[in-house]
Amino acid sequence: MSSLDAPTRSTPATPGSVHPGAGRRVLPTLNEDGTRRWIRPKPSHGAWWRRRRVVAYALMAIFFAAPHLRLFGKPIFLMDLPRRQFTLMGYTFLPTDTLLFMLVLASGVIGIFLVTALAGRAWCGWACPQTVYLEFLFRPIGRWFDGGYAQSRNLDKKGAWFTPRRIAKYVTFFLMSLFVSHTMLAFFVGTDQLYTWMVHSPAAHPAAFAFVVAFTGIVWFNFTYFREQTCLIVCPYGRWQSALIDRQSTIVAYDYTRGEPRAHAAGAKGAPRDPNAGDCIDCSACVQTCPTGIDIRNGLQMECVHCTQCIDACDEIMTRVGKPTGLIRYASQDAIAGAPRKLLSLRTVLYPLVLFVLLGGLATALLQKAPADFTVLRGIGAPFTQEADGRVANQVRVKLTNRRSQGTAYTITLDSLIGGDLRAEDVTVAIPENPFAVPAGATRTTSLFILLPSRAFVGGEKWMTLTVTDTEGWHETVRWRLLGPATATGATPGETK
Ligand code: SF4
Ligand code: SF4
Repeated sequence: MSSLDAPTRSTPATPGSVHPGAGRRVLPTLNEDGTRRWIRPKPSHGAWWRRRRVVAYALMAIFFAAPHLRLFGKPIFLMDLPRRQFTLMGYTFLPTDTLLFMLVLASGVIGIFLVTALAGRAWCGWACPQTVYLEFLFRPIGRWFDGGYAQSRNLDKKGAWFTPRRIAKYVTFFLMSLFVSHTMLAFFVGTDQLYTWMVHSPAAHPAAFAFVVAFTGIVWFNFTYFREQTCLIVCPYGRWQSALIDRQSTIVAYDYTRGEPRAHAAGAKGAPRDPNAGDCIDCSACVQTCPTGIDIRNGLQMECVHCTQCIDACDEIMTRVGKPTGLIRYASQDAIAGAPRKLLSLRTVLYPLVLFVLLGGLATALLQKAPADFTVLRGIGAPFTQEADGRVANQVRVKLTNRRSQGTAYTITLDSLIGGDLRAEDVTVAIPENPFAVPAGATRTTSLFILLPSRAFVGGEKWMTLTVTDTEGWHETVRWRLLGPATATGATPGETK
């Protein structure tokens, strides 16, 4: 029997169902009368929880430190929205790098698909900020204010939402949310800008102030009130999982072949346990510890975030009753059903192949990327103008994007203008800004003006080369076509050759 197809048994109401008018639950967090069923998961501090705690604290440290870390003189992560630039691991993606940026995003998405195909929702249980902050920061601190797990449920029963301890908890959550939102803002504006804003009046930066207020409110609401609803209602990932995993994917699974038929440790009135019963003693410890309120014994469910808490809870029970641990464990659906392990499947072959192609394309594009983007454009308006003395004027625009981490000056030189019957004194070139300075990561455009006698144009065109060279020796040359009057000889009537 597939765990996906496992028969659904109604889960006994747990003490978390506290609303006076609440009847039987219809969804993990919804009572029959439409009220919310509050989830107060019982802590299970087993081996998996200890491993997740190490990962969670490491991720929190990285999150809080990342805005301050630099690589090649640049932030390791900066999503500079006002300047439409994205810096990742020392490389800055500019607005002209849409293709590169798409390759990064596509690689990330395929990477998540691959991890899901191999290890189910490992991301949700181990690394998602929602899980990390809720289970290892906000929930433990909340329990401390509530006086422990049991007391937090009693407070629910009394409807005592606004006791002094709880108000202190909400205020603490607000301060934590403020810290998280400031850290988030640093990822968008950088630490220097953030510090400047922090020491000045909000009136000097109303938009940023409004963002911090709004984001702090959202973080506070999420971790104080909304909690598991974010995973169940807002996040689409859980809904994708049925399309992303197969029966060979490793998931958090209940071994129904070993656990069923379930039966209490002792029968009614102390009668001995049914000798044909499975190992599950129907203690509901796995349900009480589940942060999304589901019963893992009902099979793979959209609500399961693979947090492993039910593994720890059940292992503790199995140890107590003298049975082997692992009734709930990391396993594939096929492994639970006793089917042979297949090393390869369509997903585990296709996803790595696609990922390899994407990352290969990204690496190639990055290695070939020049330290500047150089574009030549025609002047705005008429393609050329003719002076009173018959000479032809072309305006040429040079657009430069400086990818270096420091400001750079570019020198513009023209070639192939003189030759044939064109002498140096026939040619006038005006480049108002030469060298042309461009700040780090910025894009600037400058214009240059070229005046030639009309006889320089054959068939209405004259080719030249335009070279830009930066202070570090990088240079690039393009051929460019100047436009002029299209006379057969190139000579304007009345003009002397
Ligand atoms: S069923 Fe188990 S792994 Fe899934 S969310 Fe609940 S406690 Fe976590
Ligand atoms: S914790 Fe284990 S023994 Fe208890 S109900 Fe869950 S699966 Fe059964």
